[in-house]
Amino acid sequence: MTNNELLDIASELGNPLYVYDAAKIASQYQRLTSTFSRIGDLRINYAAKALSNLSILKLMRQLGSGLDTVSIQEVQLGLAAGFEPQAIIYTPNGVSLKEIEEVAKMEVQINIDNLSLLEQFGTRHPKTPVCIRINPHVMAGGNSNISVGHIDSKFGISIHQIPHLLRIVENTAMNINGIHMHTGSDILDIDVFLHAAEILFDTAKHFKNLEFLDFGSGFKVPYQQNDIETNIEELGEKLSKRFIDFCKEYGRDLQLIFEPGKFLVSQAGHFVTQVNVVKQTTSTVFAQVDSGFNHLIRPMLYGSYHHIENLSNPKGKERFYSVVGYICETDTFGSNRKIAEITEGDLLVFRNCGAYCFSMASNYNSRYRPAEVLWHEGKAHLIRKRETFEDILHNQVEMEYFKESTEQKA
Ligand SMILES: *Cc1c(COP(=O)(O)O)cnc(C)c1O
Repeated sequence: MTNNELLDIASELGNPLYVYDAAKIASQYQRLTSTFSRIGDLRINYAAKALSNLSILKLMRQLGSGLDTVSIQEVQLGLAAGFEPQAIIYTPNGVSLKEIEEVAKMEVQINIDNLSLLEQFGTRHPKTPVCIRINPHVMAGGNSNISVGHIDSKFGISIHQIPHLLRIVENTAMNINGIHMHTGSDILDIDVFLHAAEILFDTAKHFKNLEFLDFGSGFKVPYQQNDIETNIEELGEKLSKRFIDFCKEYGRDLQLIFEPGKFLVSQAGHFVTQVNVVKQTTSTVFAQVDSGFNHLIRPMLYGSYHHIENLSNPKGKERFYSVVGYICETDTFGSNRKIAEITEGDLLVFRNCGAYCFSMASNYNSRYRPAEVLWHEGKAHLIRKRETFEDILHNQVEMEYFKESTEQKA
């Protein structure tokens, strides 16, 4: 979609505003499926936590995707979006046995990532098919916050615990139908990923009734010019070959699953904000927008880079700015950025704002969360209203005590 289209949408619906381009989501989906077209039974399970608006989930379903969920509420959202329970996998971490049992009752695929719950669940429900999440202890990315396969990670069952795992499966006679890994958010080196895949294949050989192997995600998309991205064409080539060979060895064709979030939605998202103030200090020119880490936390949480452009004055002379927010806390979106000259009132757009942006937004500083728009077949569709003051008060319970004391004062 074009910058002019973004300007039109923002002038109609106000800002700050998240706008998602459906065509970009579809083209990423197709890029992934065509890369793995040699696989007879390929399944993409969109990771709902990246962007969980119902309309986005429905779009994914229409594209043919399944759903990867991490909470019972995401499962419920998936069902509300029309996914069959069988098209949903539930991969929680550190949740209660009770929640896992509730999800299993809905006939959603369960994925268990610790031995304690595996033993308890297997003892009580030996017939329910269960997938096992292993931790291959492979460092996939550089940032330890988003790299979840390494040795100190809380995710997955360590491959060093396989003997214990096998004893549990044998003793409970439970039904293991899949093996899963999700090594981290950034696959930069295909060979590192393939190494982790070998560990998954080795693990899989211990189980006779598998139906699928789930390689998780970690597809990195570029956030700036010349940024590294996962070479999915190379991954498709190499992993497909190895997977097909493994299935021969295993004696049965298995389903290959990926569960990308960022890859499908990151680049489709555009976050439009307005500059309230241009503030010159002795060392810096700040452009302060009508947003903060309450709406977009990735730069402060992960140090993520989001490219910023001036929509209102795209041809202006470039100058250096620190783009910051309006909340009472350090909320830097970008330091020392070269941006076309900014005047108060200009609209700025932040790129790559589809994944982990709105879904991590909060009401901090008692601000409203932004509206969301899906740009679909040349039309803008409001898919989430901007919040109002009622939303800020929602669920707050007024104490009798204060009601009385207010009356007394009055
Ligand atoms: C978050 C998550 C994903 C998606 O990761 P991306 O980096 O957004 O592709 C996939 N699988 C699991 C289990 C996750 O927790």
